[in-house]
Amino acid sequence: MSTTAAVRPLATNGEPLGLRIARVETFLVPPRWLFVRIETEDGIVGWGEASLEGFSESVRTAITQFAEYLVGRDPLTIEDHWQVLTKGGFYRGGPILSSAVSGIDQALWDIAGRALDVPVHQLLGGAVRERIRAYGWVGGDEPAEVADAIRAQLDVGLTAVKMNASGKMSRVATVAEIDGIVERVAAAREVLGPERDIAVDFHGRLTLANARRVAPLLEGLRPFFLEEPVVPENSHIIGELARLTSIPIATGERLYNRQEFLPVLQAGISIAQPDLSHAGGISEVRRIASLAEVFDVQLAPHCPLGPLALAACLQVGFATPNYLIQEQSIGIHYNKGAEVLDYVLDKSPLKFVDGSIERLTGPGLGIEIDEQAVRTADKAGHSWRTPLWRYADGSVAEW
Ligand SMILES: [Mg+2]
Repeated sequence: MSTTAAVRPLATNGEPLGLRIARVETFLVPPRWLFVRIETEDGIVGWGEASLEGFSESVRTAITQFAEYLVGRDPLTIEDHWQVLTKGGFYRGGPILSSAVSGIDQALWDIAGRALDVPVHQLLGGAVRERIRAYGWVGGDEPAEVADAIRAQLDVGLTAVKMNASGKMSRVATVAEIDGIVERVAAAREVLGPERDIAVDFHGRLTLANARRVAPLLEGLRPFFLEEPVVPENSHIIGELARLTSIPIATGERLYNRQEFLPVLQAGISIAQPDLSHAGGISEVRRIASLAEVFDVQLAPHCPLGPLALAACLQVGFATPNYLIQEQSIGIHYNKGAEVLDYVLDKSPLKFVDGSIERLTGPGLGIEIDEQAVRTADKAGHSWRTPLWRYADGSVAEW
């Protein structure tokens, strides 16, 4: 990778800040996350999150390689580093490299905010809102379980929830599978009433044939949005579904840059869901938001991840006009062994007030990481793996 000198940044008084990156560290922490810590020679510490569910060890290796370039350089030339890390290695893109860049990018923005003593959203142009609505996850296979899980989320003050309305789906779904989806969404709507929202995440489990059948049956229940109805590699067919139904179509957690978002925006999705830890971090998601605005598309970033990914999402959200709602994983069904707030010293900035999170006012990402807890958790590490589903005939099914 090239080692030519980068542009020197100026402080607000016109003098160079003169910061240099001393070290880049990574921490593999339960339940399934990867944190990045970048420290400058004079002791400013920035944190980011590069969690790639099921592949965090691979991302960790990529970050170690990127650190060879970063150490000794100015942390404040964030865009130049983004350019080098995404383009300078010739091979580019994909979840591993993009997640590595994402975690580093968040940590550099955190350092920039702390060096200048402002929250990151101030560096992005300042706040356009005072709070961001958040939604929670609900599990549950039976309609009665769904209703109970939703009541639990309403009890913590949320006004919107999301669920997988289906389990494994046959390639052409049975009547029972399709009726099961409708029954679960109907149970959710009954609990939520007309003032609160239910989003439905299909995790790419539907074929286009199934999606064509299911979407019209859900119309009357007016879901907030239908997420990832088809797998992302089949994004070329998502436009057919968007034209077929009035339900807003959402996708994007497995798209990694502007270029991959363009076709789904052109196809007519309504909600873009870039993941701050997979899609190039704060720098690129800010640009994806801007591109989405041209298509009247709202952002609802994917974030079933840890506290740093959530804080990075919120920082973008406070400075981005076309921001709809924020996913967060406090209480998510697959956080086993550790919780989002376990690694945060002061938990109060991430509490819900009337279903929203108030503007983060602290410097950088706006949360303080419990470094000791992170270092201890990293000693145990994790080896979280995506569940593998198969059909009765032995062939692989979408999880
Ligand atoms: Mg999803």
